[in-house]
Amino acid sequence: TFRAILVTKGQDGGQRAAETHLTEADLMEGEVDVAIEATTVNYKDGLAMTGKSPIVRRFPLIPGIDFAGTVTASSDPRWKAGDAVLANGWGLGETHHGGYAERARVKGDWLVRRPPAFSAMQAAAIGTAGYTAMLCLMKLEKAGVTPGDGPVIVTGAAGGVGSVALAILKANGWHVVASTGRPQEAGYLKDLGADEIVDRAEFSGEGKPLGKERFAAGIDSVGSHTLANVLSQVKAEGAVAACGLAQGMDLPTSVAPFILRGISLLGVNSVYQPQDTREEAWSRLARDLDPAMLASITREIGFEDIISAGADIVEGKVRGRLVARLTP
Ligand code: NAP
Repeated sequence: TFRAILVTKGQDGGQRAAETHLTEADLMEGEVDVAIEATTVNYKDGLAMTGKSPIVRRFPLIPGIDFAGTVTASSDPRWKAGDAVLANGWGLGETHHGGYAERARVKGDWLVRRPPAFSAMQAAAIGTAGYTAMLCLMKLEKAGVTPGDGPVIVTGAAGGVGSVALAILKANGWHVVASTGRPQEAGYLKDLGADEIVDRAEFSGEGKPLGKERFAAGIDSVGSHTLANVLSQVKAEGAVAACGLAQGMDLPTSVAPFILRGISLLGVNSVYQPQDTREEAWSRLARDLDPAMLASITREIGFEDIISAGADIVEGKVRGRLVARLTP
């Protein structure tokens, strides 16, 4: 047997997450077996385990949208026992058993070769949040905005996506403005790469369609009024990468920033990215994310702490990234 967390649905329709022991026979279809060595808790995992949003769409299900580990068996010729791998998204922890277990069985297509720069613990510490921060930066670069155009704003700066975004933007020469609701974390944010800190309250209420042009670019993991206010303060021809909804799913804005300033809103979906984009993002992370910086944003928790960490992250109580070690 192996240790796992399982989300089940009761007869009353309510769901609950609990630790259990499963056998290989409980795993789903897939060509590759992986011994999971490390996993993490993202905002989405918090939503999945608390049931706050309908993330889990098949019951019973092992949650966890990320894992890192080593291949133990494979009928896919691209993978063999001993290969160091990681996985993000593809329905893991949503429709297919995910990373909160000592074992996984997945499609060969879903695995990424773990860059030699990263241990399993480091790859999980980066996880979907960090990989998504890199996808956001890559989208901004593709849109043609550069550090020479002006500052970049990062919303939800003390969170997982935000913390990694600060570090990689700084490493790429940007002047970084961090928006946070946790002013007590100013030292942490500055150490990561923030040049300026702004109070998120400045962005979280109803705003004007257009404001003063302050930023050349933005990475937003918050959505709602925050994203609307960021859009209204982006300079002409600037761009904002939007990946999250920590404040809300809505976007109360107007077309003004788009038609009067020509700015671009770039959507980022980490879950179903093609393999070449994933490989590019992970090799960029290996290049741009200083391991000491990664260590400073990461806190190790026990497997038994994952469920409560899920509740904490949806309440905005988690700083940076969490990682849990599994011992298969
Ligand atoms: P996280 O660690 O909880 O970070 C979210 C941060 O947002 C919080 O730390 C907080 O930062 C800020 N925040 C929370 N509630 C807020 C509110 N009501 N108003 C304004 N700001 C608020 O979560 P994460 O794992 O980094 O994920 C961030 C978001 O990105 C989530 O919505 C997640 O679902 C999304 N996401 C999407 C993708 C994708 O593929 N599109 C991938 C990864 C993540 P401060 O304390 O600094 O204010």
